[in-house]
Amino acid sequence: MPVSGFARWVRFETKKVRFTVKKLAASCLSCLESDLNSQGEPNANQPPKEPVMLEQLRIEVAKWHLELPKNNLVTWTGGNLSARDFDSSQMVIKPSGLLFEELSPENMVVTDLEAHVVEGNLKPSSDTATHAYIYRHMPEVGAIVHTHSPYATAWAANAREIPCVLTAMADEFGGPIPCGGFALIGGEEIGHEVVRVLTGHRSPAIILKNHGVFALGKTAKSAVKAAVMCEDVARTVFLAMQLGNVQPIAQADIDKLHDRYTNVYGQ
Ligand SMILES: [Zn+2]
Repeated sequence: MPVSGFARWVRFETKKVRFTVKKLAASCLSCLESDLNSQGEPNANQPPKEPVMLEQLRIEVAKWHLELPKNNLVTWTGGNLSARDFDSSQMVIKPSGLLFEELSPENMVVTDLEAHVVEGNLKPSSDTATHAYIYRHMPEVGAIVHTHSPYATAWAANAREIPCVLTAMADEFGGPIPCGGFALIGGEEIGHEVVRVLTGHRSPAIILKNHGVFALGKTAKSAVKAAVMCEDVARTVFLAMQLGNVQPIAQADIDKLHDRYTNVYGQ
């Protein structure tokens, strides 16, 4: 190739390269913009994400629900847990009819203490009015668990309180686990019975005639613990009664055990 022809060829190739580089730069910039938008940078086409109410409490309530099937306290969709937010006077509760493995912080329902839904796309538990009634009448209660756990519910079917014949019962319940009267499901009637029996009582749990267990606590963890312990002692006392006559513990000893467990035991 003559020198002048070579120079023309170089100029032509240089122009081609410049053109390609410009095109590449422009397309990369548009990619970068769309990446930024998909990563949550402000985008005029998308509305800003709404903040979720009681986010921490939703996480807590969803998490402690999982302990109910893990401890064999519930079957299928039965049973529920709620926790109260003391600042806003609202509660977070399980949606009605969902399987436990379907529960997540996002599908929990927020209601006020009159059982009206404040936030959530699903219907709240059919026991919501009862939970709300208990919170309104027992200001120290921060969480409520309801189960049909089998041994405790067998006592409920017989409408019998569980007698205090184990030191573990004296510790956790401070005496027998009381049995409340029959109440229909769906309204506040169960709540009336729970409040009537447990107000001023040392037991954090009650069994309700023909129904199951309601366990109360300051936190979701303590309410779940009371429900787990209730089923555990219901089973042991049932087994003990197959062997013969269970032996009562003197009231003075029940008092001492409960006091030690409440005020000294633990870290
Ligand atoms: Zn029930």
